[in-house]
Amino acid sequence: MVPISAFASLGYCERQVYLSLVRGIRATTRAMRAGAAHHRISELTEEPRLRRLPGLRHWMRQRDSVLQLPRESVFVRFRHAGYTFTGRIDLLIKRRNELLVVDEKFVRRSYARMMPSYRYQLSGYCHALRYGCATYRWEEGRENLGRFPGCRLSYMVVERHRGSRRRIGVMQESYLERRFLPALRRMVEILDGDIPEAVNSRRCTFCRFREVCR
Ligand code: SF4
Repeated sequence: MVPISAFASLGYCERQVYLSLVRGIRATTRAMRAGAAHHRISELTEEPRLRRLPGLRHWMRQRDSVLQLPRESVFVRFRHAGYTFTGRIDLLIKRRNELLVVDEKFVRRSYARMMPSYRYQLSGYCHALRYGCATYRWEEGRENLGRFPGCRLSYMVVERHRGSRRRIGVMQESYLERRFLPALRRMVEILDGDIPEAVNSRRCTFCRFREVCR
């Protein structure tokens, strides 16, 4: 199983994918732990306990329906080149014939643009909604929602300040398959054994693998 969140690493530096998924090196930073804690806070404070939603699969298929699914309740997966990619969507909104994937990022500052790491990760969720399958899960059960080949797909990143949780940036884009497929191809090449060279860039300064990279 390959986490769809690994596409964020691909957008940051290809070698991160090699180090984390092929070499199996685990490196978590304070920022990552803080991000996970913030997500948990959002989940607990903004959403009541997940429960069964009768008829959800039916309503998701109605062309005119408008729905916001509970946070962290939709799991997606797709298969490609012998690998299974899986992930959990922060927030999924259906607006008639459009599905909007919303992801929260907890950052120190906003660059006010859709970074490649955001784009690849969220495109991965969209790809799964179109070609894989989605499952709604609550505490006692799950419902298979299937795939949504006919829907328009887009994604939104909401950046919040890591300390105050204040919203500091919002970016939205349409999912474009031609923009995602090269990233997917590259991910498979790395998983199949192609080793990306270590680069020497400013990013290394902030990279969680800088101690073990070379
Ligand atoms: S230290 Fe630099 S080359 Fe190595 S994974 Fe991090 S960003 Fe990439």
